[in-house]
Amino acid sequence: MAVPKRKVSPHRRGNRRSHDALKVEAHHECSNCGELKRPHNLCGHCGFYNGREILAAGL
Ligand SMILES: [Zn+2]
Repeated sequence: MAVPKRKVSPHRRGNRRSHDALKVEAHHECSNCGELKRPHNLCGHCGFYNGREILAAGL
């Protein structure tokens, strides 16, 4: 609900924004090339997943 800006104190505004921070995305090192990748996802760097090459590397 909209509230006039001056009615919200800095403390209250800060409390509200304390939940606004972005979370760090999940990441894990690729077992093939060591690059950071998302777990359970194809490595975007070398195209490997679960020790096998799924996509041709060098995009
Ligand atoms: Zn990789």
